[in-house]
Amino acid sequence: MTLTDLAIVGVGKIARDQHLPAIRDGGQFRLAATVSRSGGVEGVENFDTLAALLQARPEIGVISFCTPPQVRYDAARAALEAGRHVMLEKPPGASLSEVRDLADLAQANGLTLYATWHSRQADGVAGARAWLADKRVRSVRIDWKEDVRVWHPGQVWIWQAGGLGVFDPAINAFSILTAILPVPVHVTGAELRFPSNCETPIAAEVVFAGPDGLTAVADLDFLYEGDPLWTMRVETDAGMLTLSQGGAVLDIAGATEGEGWGDTPGIHGEYPKLYSQMHDLLQAKASEVDLRPMTLVADAFMLGRRFEVAPFTDPTLEKDQ
Ligand code: NAP
Repeated sequence: MTLTDLAIVGVGKIARDQHLPAIRDGGQFRLAATVSRSGGVEGVENFDTLAALLQARPEIGVISFCTPPQVRYDAARAALEAGRHVMLEKPPGASLSEVRDLADLAQANGLTLYATWHSRQADGVAGARAWLADKRVRSVRIDWKEDVRVWHPGQVWIWQAGGLGVFDPAINAFSILTAILPVPVHVTGAELRFPSNCETPIAAEVVFAGPDGLTAVADLDFLYEGDPLWTMRVETDAGMLTLSQGGAVLDIAGATEGEGWGDTPGIHGEYPKLYSQMHDLLQAKASEVDLRPMTLVADAFMLGRRFEVAPFTDPTLEKDQ
């Protein structure tokens, strides 16, 4: 198969941990260049700015954005205006309206825009969706808890407006929730706990409702030590379905499927599927932009009662916010 030239913008934690291996091993794309302020990838041409890349490398047809959400929009818009297909890390932007604008621009120019949700590619998610399709869901309980100092060391942007705080991981849960439930849910209330020195919450509880008395609650915590707890329990008229380990393990009424993460908690096998999906979208000349997970987060911010909690400190940050 001929490899499609692709560039990565923002060579940070997720680019190095997941995107680079997925591109290297996937057999669909070739990493043709990077845009990085910190040097990029050894052996691959690097540009200081996206504008320089767009001008110098017109043959690179796909740009994959791995930067924090607050700096995505202008660059993604520039890439689309330059006729390039675009892939966005989650969350796809810092606001709903900017992502809608990108989707409209892609459609108007006949380009592919793929707003990725990596957690939807976890091993148990498709099976959960299939099983739930004809069930009546009564309630959902989400526990999405991890230690921010372990999973996001030194990431100042996560504590700045638009960085989402604890909703940066929680939006992964919401991406699974909206993918597997056979009916829609909406946020009815939230409690958001903001450290006194941060612009985004460090913990939250979000309450949802859906048709026929469906209720859901999400308990989110960014100061949870030990292995992360990324679990969703769905109570139905036909028994309990549980997704654990971020969606990697599926348990239906006591029957468990999925290898899970073994000794290494984290993301496994999700990014190769994202690049396969991008390849399929390019072939089909289609886009995929599902804003439901981000809408739930936005609604939690709109409806949430705000509480101030102790300041957040992280030795890996140069200074406290
Ligand atoms: P990160 O390592 O803190 O930042 C990513 C890279 O973006 C940085 O290394 C830098 O790359 C560039 N960058 C950072 N701040 C920038 C700014 N103000 N202006 C321009 N470029 C900037 O973050 P990350 O953990 O990789 O997360 C990036 C995105 O991936 C987020 O949306 C996050 O939600 C998502 N994600 C992260 C994880 C995870 O486990 N960390 C998992 C899944 C998804 P250069 O130095 O190359 O310029």
